[in-house]
Amino acid sequence: MANAGPRPLFMRNDVVDPFVHRRLQGARTLALFLDYDGTLTPIAATREAAVPGGRTVRLLRALVASPDIRVAIVTGRSLSHVPRSIRRCGADLAVDHGVRIVSRQAVWTHPALDDLKPDIRKVYAAAEERLGTIPGIRIEQKRWSVDIHYRQVHPRHVAGIRAMMTRVMGPYAGSLRLTHGKKVLEARPAISWSKGHAILKLLESREYKGALPVFIGDDRTDEDGFLALRGRGITIHVGRSRRTAARYTVRTVPDVLVFLAGVLACRSRDDA
Ligand SMILES: [Mg+2]
Repeated sequence: MANAGPRPLFMRNDVVDPFVHRRLQGARTLALFLDYDGTLTPIAATREAAVPGGRTVRLLRALVASPDIRVAIVTGRSLSHVPRSIRRCGADLAVDHGVRIVSRQAVWTHPALDDLKPDIRKVYAAAEERLGTIPGIRIEQKRWSVDIHYRQVHPRHVAGIRAMMTRVMGPYAGSLRLTHGKKVLEARPAISWSKGHAILKLLESREYKGALPVFIGDDRTDEDGFLALRGRGITIHVGRSRRTAARYTVRTVPDVLVFLAGVLACRSRDDA
């Protein structure tokens, strides 16, 4: 994260930084990599409440339909937790923090994952046993991770939850690691794979090859994506923090949508 801090993407009145604008216009093909929660939809109290607006879905569909734009949603969610309207918009999906990529061409899963399934089950059972009675906690076994959501938990419990999860994870230190997101602890495979790897893997595929990559995200796991595209693409952090490896920043989800609409407009003019 050795970075002078991100620059504002918008100069004023929704005018995009001219350097970014020139790159967007000049690229033969664009590859948009988009985080979901906190990027395309505001963070909500529960996952189910974080549904995309109609405008967001229409915008995604229009971007997907553009012949020289590739779109991939890159999310920590499992495929089944990605809202149906997003799954159906035609974008490629890198789910479970990128360990699984579902594109129109193929489904790819990181080869090391199957060995970790028993450990994930055991960590889930231990977390459920030791933390399951805390009011408001939600412990979720996903296909390749265990997520401990504490957004609805009283703050006095949070330090204890962290300490207990660190203990629960002890025996699995070689296979799983604990990461911290926004009000969530995630026990994830300790393989060197991240959203950044998924982005680079997609960029190697035939459909994405040669495209100018753009990655937009808001959370810690998105930093891997920003680092992967350093010196190569346009990286945009959503939020107020300046502690990011992204080159540019916007404040809010609506800003992201304004930017994406601008991308669509600038590329459509290109086609004409
Ligand atoms: Mg996010």
